[in-house]
Amino acid sequence: MRSRKRKLLLVVLLLAAIGAAAGLWHVRRAMRLKDAVNPLYWVRRWRQEDMFDSRWRLLHHGNRRLREVALTIDDGPHYPTCPQILDALRAEGVRATFFVVGKEVDKKPELVRRMLAEGHEVGNHSQNHLRLDTLNEAQTWREINDGDIYFHWATGRHLRLLRPPGVRYNAQALRVASALGYVTVTWSCAGNDYRDVSADEIVQSVLQRVENGSIILLHDTYPGTPAALPRLLRELKRQGYRFVTISEMLSRLPEPVHVAQNPQTER
Ligand SMILES: [Zn+2]
Repeated sequence: MRSRKRKLLLVVLLLAAIGAAAGLWHVRRAMRLKDAVNPLYWVRRWRQEDMFDSRWRLLHHGNRRLREVALTIDDGPHYPTCPQILDALRAEGVRATFFVVGKEVDKKPELVRRMLAEGHEVGNHSQNHLRLDTLNEAQTWREINDGDIYFHWATGRHLRLLRPPGVRYNAQALRVASALGYVTVTWSCAGNDYRDVSADEIVQSVLQRVENGSIILLHDTYPGTPAALPRLLRELKRQGYRFVTISEMLSRLPEPVHVAQNPQTER
């Protein structure tokens, strides 16, 4: 009797160890540690609010049941990286979402026009790349709205998606963004494409963490990013991933959210 109990205990311990190992593997691969250890994150995940939080109109992740990812590219447009990134995307027939900075759009409007002409989506990354959680309400409103004004001057279209600079936001920033008609977009899979990071490291960084519904974060700043793209895009395709823009990703959530892709009409 005692030996049966001992066997049962051993099996339970073994299963728990396998479960813990699988959990750790998943955490290392696809999750941020601060989410994994946060019980509130798991409540949100159970309620599917880890993908889209309708109260704040906040997108964190795409549909985990669909083999698709959204490629997002922040901080541009810059020469020479932006045209190089656009060339790499065109060569692979991939559409991405660019979160642009208003003051850069003002200097290089031809690049945002090219983004739209080639079927990409464009989102707002503020006018001056200021951290929105350090601003008062009027300043926050102006940072977001000026970004849209410069984009509208360049293209005749509007921005409906916001990625706060540094993904730093507070309740006030989300309230202002939502009142201006935006969906705020975070990310789930970083390329870590900072200065002096090689193309190899960027490719590895994404491939280690990518999963169904990933929002991949890259930057339009350093030469490693356009150098990494051809191999990264081909490898993601080989693994069966389909590329969607952020508004497409929103429309394909378990509870779809509809946002027009850079509409021409006034709000
Ligand atoms: Zn940024």
